[in-house]
Amino acid sequence: MYPPLQQDRSDLEQLLQDTCRYATEVLTGIDERPVTGRATSPTRVHLPESGHGLSAALADFQSRWAPGFSGCAGPRYLGFVTGGATPAALAGDWLTSTFDQNPTSALDSTAPDLERETLSWLRALFGLSDAHEGTFVTGATMSNMVGLAIAREWVGEQRGIQISEHGLAALGPIRVFSGAAHASIYKSLSMLGIGRAALSALPLLPGREAVDVQALEAALRSCAGEAIIVVANIGTVNTVDFDDLAAIVALKARYSFWLHADGAFGSFAALSPDFAHLTTGLDAADSICLDCHKWLNVPYDSAVQFTRRRDLQLRVFQNSAAYLGEAAEIPDFVHLTPENSRRLRALATWFALAAYGRAGHRDIVERNVAAARALGAQIDRHPALRLLAPVQMNVVCFTLADSPTQARVQAFLQRITDSGEAFLTPTLLHGTWAARAAFSNWRSTTQDIPRVFQAIQDAL
Ligand SMILES: *Cc1c(COP(=O)(O)O)cnc(C)c1O
Repeated sequence: MYPPLQQDRSDLEQLLQDTCRYATEVLTGIDERPVTGRATSPTRVHLPESGHGLSAALADFQSRWAPGFSGCAGPRYLGFVTGGATPAALAGDWLTSTFDQNPTSALDSTAPDLERETLSWLRALFGLSDAHEGTFVTGATMSNMVGLAIAREWVGEQRGIQISEHGLAALGPIRVFSGAAHASIYKSLSMLGIGRAALSALPLLPGREAVDVQALEAALRSCAGEAIIVVANIGTVNTVDFDDLAAIVALKARYSFWLHADGAFGSFAALSPDFAHLTTGLDAADSICLDCHKWLNVPYDSAVQFTRRRDLQLRVFQNSAAYLGEAAEIPDFVHLTPENSRRLRALATWFALAAYGRAGHRDIVERNVAAARALGAQIDRHPALRLLAPVQMNVVCFTLADSPTQARVQAFLQRITDSGEAFLTPTLLHGTWAARAAFSNWRSTTQDIPRVFQAIQDAL
């Protein structure tokens, strides 16, 4: 065995303890660390011809790369909709790599059943019926892609064509209707060969990001007899607006369409009695996207997709090979996901749900909403700032009261970033350049708001 590797094997306990001590230092200091990392990367070095073992690699990482990493795991990182990792989720993630299972098939391990138990817990958490079966994927983009791949197969089924066998060319154009669809929907349509232009962006309700359901009905009526995909947006990234899902579901009685619900983070509304009504009808969707690495606060590389048509999913992702075994009555995950080999990413979610349950995750959602509202109230009172939408849930969308050009908003956000006190991202809402502060980290509380607001004021 190569000597540094052999040495690491004999020093394993000490080395893992050192790494764990370092990880603990990082996390206990997260509130003091600048929210964004050092702006410039270190000079790249050449591939080491002979490594010096884990200790040396850790020291090199600590000195060259760690200073540039953001405080994304901390409470005042409000960019995108990121979330952090709860202690249990982090431990689950470590153990994922420790056991290094490949839950592709059940030939050697019960790991796939742990994934199934976790999926059943998520079903219960979001009020989904047993008609929905799920799989873990890498993120909400991949979840949307899988959902739309199943939708595509369904469109083929409506026209008597098996797309998974004969390809899209046999079918002709597919129509997709949506309101304020997330960028990843367009990306998925591109990856699936349906094409971005297949999506007709329908009118939104005045001043909102929710689709005008009457316009949707008119669009469906005008395409009667065609097989259509409708993407409902359950929580938009700018203002956390929700399509009227119950009304869209009601249209299913009169028109034939596949309903895909992108509830990447908005579906977490189901966890709080104050917001649960916004997800009414979710179970009736044909496919659903839920992100775990956002509001569930598990480490990156985790989302789930659910569908009522596992049979079609199996057709799309079937991976036959003698050495993998045949698809059983309960199909192995290898026949259901884009990946073949994959990590047991369900384990982090399993730990999070086992450790904190429904109540713990409801608390994260409600605490984040309270923090967003507290920030929104302060912004609303400040003469130089303007809220662009009421704070529905966990995102505050606001802009400069005085000529919010792209350049001015970006410079304002850059000053906040440079302060190291908070991190916010830009957006364009109904033609106005704006800032978003998104709360989805389990550590964030209203006590973080004075510091965040100070950074915003100082950047004016
Ligand atoms: C974040 C997000 C996605 C994409 O999620 P990734 O996990 O980054 O792939 C899709 N839809 C919505 C509504 C989102 O908020």
